[in-house]
Amino acid sequence: MLKIIILAIQNPDSMIHFSKKTIYTVATTAALALCAFSIKPTNDPVFKNLDKSVKPGDDFFMYANGGWIKRNPIPPAYSSWGIGNEVGEEIKIRLKKITEDAMAANAPVGTASQKIGDFYYSGLDTVTIEKAGIKPIQPLLSMIDDIKDINDVVHVSAYLNTYGTRGIIGAGVGQDAKNSSKNIVQLRQGGIGLPNRDYYFRTDARTTRIRDEYHNKHVPAMLVLSGWDMPAATKGAESVFKIEKYLAENNRKLEDNRDPYRNYNKMTVAKLAALTPEINWTDVFATMEMKGVDSVIVAQPEYYTAVNTALKTYTVDDWKAYLRWKLISSNAAYLNKAIEDENFRFTGTVIGGRKEQLPRWKRVLDNENSIMGEILGQLFVKEYFSLQAKERYTKMVEAMRAAYREHIEKLDWMSPATKKKALVKLNAVHPKVGYPDKWKNYSTLVIDRSSYVGNVIRARHSAYLISVAKLGKPVDHQEWGMTPQTYNASYSPSNNEITLPAAQFIIPGVKDADVDDAVAYGYAAASTIGHEITHGFDDQGRQFDAKGNLRAWWTPQDSAKFTKRANMLADQFSSYVVLDSLHVNGKATLGENIADLGGIVIGITAFKKTEQYKQGKSINGLTPMQRFFLGYALGWLGHIRNEALANQILTDVHAPGSLRVNGPFSDVPEFYAAFHIKPGDKMYLAPDKRVKIW
Ligand SMILES: [Zn+2]
Repeated sequence: MLKIIILAIQNPDSMIHFSKKTIYTVATTAALALCAFSIKPTNDPVFKNLDKSVKPGDDFFMYANGGWIKRNPIPPAYSSWGIGNEVGEEIKIRLKKITEDAMAANAPVGTASQKIGDFYYSGLDTVTIEKAGIKPIQPLLSMIDDIKDINDVVHVSAYLNTYGTRGIIGAGVGQDAKNSSKNIVQLRQGGIGLPNRDYYFRTDARTTRIRDEYHNKHVPAMLVLSGWDMPAATKGAESVFKIEKYLAENNRKLEDNRDPYRNYNKMTVAKLAALTPEINWTDVFATMEMKGVDSVIVAQPEYYTAVNTALKTYTVDDWKAYLRWKLISSNAAYLNKAIEDENFRFTGTVIGGRKEQLPRWKRVLDNENSIMGEILGQLFVKEYFSLQAKERYTKMVEAMRAAYREHIEKLDWMSPATKKKALVKLNAVHPKVGYPDKWKNYSTLVIDRSSYVGNVIRARHSAYLISVAKLGKPVDHQEWGMTPQTYNASYSPSNNEITLPAAQFIIPGVKDADVDDAVAYGYAAASTIGHEITHGFDDQGRQFDAKGNLRAWWTPQDSAKFTKRANMLADQFSSYVVLDSLHVNGKATLGENIADLGGIVIGITAFKKTEQYKQGKSINGLTPMQRFFLGYALGWLGHIRNEALANQILTDVHAPGSLRVNGPFSDVPEFYAAFHIKPGDKMYLAPDKRVKIW
């Protein structure tokens, strides 16, 4: 889903197939089933955001959201600002209170309260942080300094991985795509420090500037701050850049990572060893505490061939500089001010366009939330998300499933044989709504007040050990990959399940009673629930069956017909130019765009069954169907700085928010009817150019 932009700073190559983390928000007991026919304009969640100077058929996104955008500039500390931030700020203040109370309580060691209190304390204790400098990571730095040969390089890189520093080997544990009940070791590409491979090669002015800053200023500055003198740091930065550039050449492009068959290269450890003779995998797996490994899935074998070549090509000193850089940069946000500031200067300002840092308490709280999110999550759902709300949204999921069924049955391009299997898959989609039934256990996590970065490193190690312990164990279907306070949602192809955190359902600043069905069906049913279900039927998800296994269950004819329609949508999005010469990457964003379009058309069908639609009464001059489209657009309320937008185009499989509204709406006949869109309007597409998939 991804509603808020989080900049991709490290290579986005995580093992587990989940959406990106955004921010946390509060969910209230939204009464989405209400039909409130007397909503005051000032309290109308869609009316109050309108910019009536914009023609809906020219730029619907700005028509729907422009009023709000004019009134709400992006604050200096942010690279984007939107609906998720508004709700996020509210919950942040609430969580701050919970955490401060925990800090004051001095709860017994090992309790949840002690952990969140002490973590927060350590993060705010800048006197201790400044006094310690880089001392807390000195043992890890010394390990790097003591490297004697290439075997040591691989060993230390594997070891650092278990403490949250990604070097050359991207190994983790995840479900076997062809046998979803089994967890297996997965190896992925990585090894680079800029947001993705394209940053090393693009020649446009914007990217060139970022690359030069990185190579000539940022990496040397960080190496100096790690204790090296300038000549050593300059030389070290050369080593870092040449290694990363070579690995980047052997990283697949964003769109090339969308083919699940190309990413599925299962091999025995013997075959892996033959592919990469410079790497002692027995030692790597032992170091990474991966036990009983006999086979692995290598997503990008050409990357590991390149790592093997790189190990022979570059000197031990090159690798020492490279690993030192990785260690410093992955911990920079938790070290002393000089290091944190330089890290922010590059990642926050140069890449993200932000003008200033968030206040310290927000940074620490965000970090606490990413490390111990389910402790905070348990506290907040108790207060903000009732059982009734959970039931209500579970019902909405079923309304969407029923509408989906109708659509599949009526498709004119799919054969009865494939339809039958598609319906089996649809019926099997498992919804996780609101919050987990079973909360994560943080008992192995040790948190104290002595060192902030120490806490972070231990927490990362603890999370790592929990994830590798899954090897050889059955898949836990109760586990959540997101916290309930996350403003986001996800689909997992291997589990054929959708996760809909509580926070995703809130509309900030508006009482639940004022949210009519039309807005709720656009906002929650179409843009979230329908979107996530459609991920099971997008270009990637459709290749997994009802049990979550990668398997050809479509007839070849139906696959070809699907692909033809999908290609039309890819072409539509590739034609959008966002910034200077940056085009949307239609192929890389295809799955998200299919999910948006599917969510909208299924949402319309589900909405048409409601009383509000049938009665047809306008609210504040807006018809029920107009309010549905405005409710959908409300999900993308927000704006973004140019720097962050450029980053998003290059690194993210989600198109910019404005196009996630205007793009799919141009394909939907009900939109033309609702807003009287005619030839000559900028969003107008001739009927034969409009895409219909689901
Ligand atoms: Zn999505």
